[in-house]
Amino acid sequence: MSSQQALLIIDYTNDFVADKGALTCGKPGQSIESNILDLAEKMYQNGDWVWFPTDVHKPNDPYHPESKLFPTHNVRNTWGRELYGDLKSWFEDHNDQEKVKLFDKTRYSAFAGTDLDLRLRERKVDTIHLVGVCTDICVLHTAVDAYNLGYQIVVHENCVASFDQTGHSWALNHFKSCLGAKVVE
Ligand code: ZN
Repeated sequence: MSSQQALLIIDYTNDFVADKGALTCGKPGQSIESNILDLAEKMYQNGDWVWFPTDVHKPNDPYHPESKLFPTHNVRNTWGRELYGDLKSWFEDHNDQEKVKLFDKTRYSAFAGTDLDLRLRERKVDTIHLVGVCTDICVLHTAVDAYNLGYQIVVHENCVASFDQTGHSWALNHFKSCLGAKVVE
């Protein structure tokens, strides 16, 4: 098997993107919808892995560190945890639990407490493409873990967003200067 690539679409759910979301990025998050959709279709057609690491929480979990930091969000089986906009139907049309798959994460990084690293290595994936929200929280923490685990990282600038423009810009620079990522349009 030659080297493989995976697209990780991080936390692109109603709670993080929609106007009524519990922890929304708002307009910056909504404005990247069609860019993510185009990239997902392109990479899918190319035979790449298209996976959706998606935050999941229990309401008022006393043991979860985010409970002190953020309002309740991305609770399982709620509207808030559904994928935002046209990504939802794209996922439902393509989901085969293998090439296209959604999986739970409970921390910022898609690697923390998940089997993502094992699944990527089994499939000889050496390059991961990162998109979604927020640039400076879950995308950043996933990129840091990917760097530490030895993956090549590509961040698609037009497919990441944050509620915090300063954090967004800082993270884009950090991907390049400290994680050796390619930041592409
Ligand atoms: Zn969370």
